[in-house]
Amino acid sequence: MTDLITLRGVQKYYGDYHALRDINLTIREGEFFSLLGPSGCGKTTLLRVIAGFEGVSGGTVMISGRDMSDVPPNKRPTNMVFQSYAIFPHLTVGQNVAFGLRTRRDIAKSQHAALVKEALHLVGLDGYENRASHAMSGGQRQRVALARALILKPKVLLLDEPLSALDKKMREHMQVELIRLQRHIGITFILVTHDQEEALVMSDRIAVMFAGEIGQLDDPETLYRRPNSRRVAEFIGKMNFLPAQVTGIDGAVTLDIAGFGVTQVPHVQVPEGAVIGPAAVGIRPETLAILFEGETASRHETTATVDEVVYYGDMTYYDVRVKDVPEPLTIAMKNLIGRPVLEVGAQTRIGWDERAIVVF
Ligand code: ATP
Repeated sequence: MTDLITLRGVQKYYGDYHALRDINLTIREGEFFSLLGPSGCGKTTLLRVIAGFEGVSGGTVMISGRDMSDVPPNKRPTNMVFQSYAIFPHLTVGQNVAFGLRTRRDIAKSQHAALVKEALHLVGLDGYENRASHAMSGGQRQRVALARALILKPKVLLLDEPLSALDKKMREHMQVELIRLQRHIGITFILVTHDQEEALVMSDRIAVMFAGEIGQLDDPETLYRRPNSRRVAEFIGKMNFLPAQVTGIDGAVTLDIAGFGVTQVPHVQVPEGAVIGPAAVGIRPETLAILFEGETASRHETTATVDEVVYYGDMTYYDVRVKDVPEPLTIAMKNLIGRPVLEVGAQTRIGWDERAIVVF
């Protein structure tokens, strides 16, 4: 994939407030890219900097190899879909979509109807031109907003929390639709979201932001399996943390983990520059297992006491206490046929696998 957007040393101040701190990243052509992070970390600011609605306080934004410093938003090959959609209720669907063309004097009025039809087709609203906008559902409004942004055939579509106003079912439905749409038209999508699941489901790559900085930029699987810091690990999914000691780093890394004992892991599971001494290890709940009667661990096992049970129908989440581990560990178990749900206070064996460990 070719590079499309390059940010170098981007800084943004609002007065004294440092909202973006030295952002460096490259977004590729045709990529579904997400900016993920907690409220106030600067995701929207970064999106608006790319769109040109905000100037930078330092650094450069390049799109297709061109410095965007002096290029206003309407001259950039980007278009934005806002959280609020900004649909005009007194206009028809067709008029709303055609509104996207208002700044383009070079496109003849006679072409508008055909372009509107094409844009509505892209978002699955064929034949909706003359419908009243105010009578559309949340999901339909979202499509109208998408059509209005797509009518200008931007190279990049910028989406600021586009699904946050929808209920859970509709949001999941639109996630799949957005992925399909992006694959179909092949342009770059940049999505701002604070919803880690949404980012994991939709993105080719994700930049996780904290306090104006990028904590990690990777594909979803790498982010989930190999978070580079505790804060990334905590923000994406659930992670158990256990105190440990690094006791050897020649060849494999030797760890002595509280409650679990001594094990060895390859260097890829350990941060660069790790030294002998105290560390923390992270283990995802679904990589631990309750061992039911007759089951044996494929790698290692230890004993535990059930502290809390949360039944979800398809899954049960157990909090268990392991001797010498300060905090209870969460274990996610599929409720397979014939598997009992354990009760609080039950003694059990749990299985763990050193390949699922991340060292911090
Ligand atoms: P959210 O998910 O809550 O929208 P965000 O990650 O998108 O959060 P931004 O909207 O980019 O965050 O804001 C980052 C920080 O910059 C916040 O602390 C915000 O209060 C501040 N900020 C944003 N816009 C302005 C502005 N125009 N003037 C002053 N401060 C601003």
